[in-house]
Amino acid sequence: MKKYAMIYDENLCIGCQGCLVACKNENKVPDGVSRLEVHSNMKGSFPNLKIDFQRHSCVMCDESPCVDVCPTHASFKLDNGITMIDERTCIGCKYCILACPYDARYVDPITHAVSKCTFCFDTRVGRGDEPACVSVCPTDALIFGDLNDENSFIRKVASQNSLSFPKQELGTKPKLAFIKNKKGGYYE
Ligand code: SF4
Ligand code: SF4
Ligand code: SF4
Repeated sequence: MKKYAMIYDENLCIGCQGCLVACKNENKVPDGVSRLEVHSNMKGSFPNLKIDFQRHSCVMCDESPCVDVCPTHASFKLDNGITMIDERTCIGCKYCILACPYDARYVDPITHAVSKCTFCFDTRVGRGDEPACVSVCPTDALIFGDLNDENSFIRKVASQNSLSFPKQELGTKPKLAFIKNKKGGYYE
């Protein structure tokens, strides 16, 4: 059984927003909402200006509060660890939006169901391709793969770096990990 995960290296991200554009195109995300954002934080002033970038999206919790609170089981987990939403059974109650500590969900203005990042399982990964955001990143700041494959690149990167897991004190066990900006990242 696969266990999908992603690593975002803050040191490599240049904030180009290519990942966001690719996600919107691949997953047909409507205007006004987004499955991911890349935030920027500026410090100092020119010529001593420093910019940090930070990905913001579903962190694909192993212990998912969004799934626990869903009254219709429209939010559910696949065996490979990806949290999905069945828009046909989502009643738009927004319990999951309130329960998500990562502010990762939104109401799709067209379907009126809740939506979020799916690691592109339904659009790309299920057929063997990388997620859209990963495939376009010009600096390889995003790494995606199977944690259960001991020969996978993500296992190698994970073993060679100190990983940070957002809000891990909540016990949600995220599968989106960060390699912190060694020049002074700002997350949390
Ligand atoms: S495509 Fe890569 S470099 Fe560009 S903003 Fe996204 S993660 Fe950062
Ligand atoms: S980040 Fe939010 S939407 Fe994603 S699995 Fe965790 S609780 Fe659910
Ligand atoms: S994995 Fe897919 S759905 Fe998630 S942010 Fe990247 S492109 Fe969007």
